[in-house]
Amino acid sequence: MRKPGTDDDHAQMSDFLCDFCGSTWTDDLPMVEGHQGSLICARCLAVAYRQVILANDNSAPEGYSCALCLLTKPEHAWLSPATGAVACRWCVNKSADMLEKDPDMGWAKPRQP
Ligand SMILES: [Zn+2]
Ligand SMILES: [Zn+2]
Repeated sequence: MRKPGTDDDHAQMSDFLCDFCGSTWTDDLPMVEGHQGSLICARCLAVAYRQVILANDNSAPEGYSCALCLLTKPEHAWLSPATGAVACRWCVNKSADMLEKDPDMGWAKPRQP
């Protein structure tokens, strides 16, 4: 998400916040963009990936709408304890794919222990 009051024409990296923890976008904290400027940072993505993909677990309420794709889905999803935003399984998977493919990010998907 954008920080409230951000000037769209002069948006800085520090004006972009993770929808799931509120962290600021920095060079050390890569983010993946969803619909309508929603963002998930690498840290939240790792937590979500462990829960939804590796553990195949769900923490979102029934009828949730995903903050990244804006859809309501029956599939497992991750509810951020910090902001209450939800990321669906599909978006977690796709975002992890995108982040891992970018060599500049130096990010890898969490592995099964
Ligand atoms: Zn985050
Ligand atoms: Zn989604």
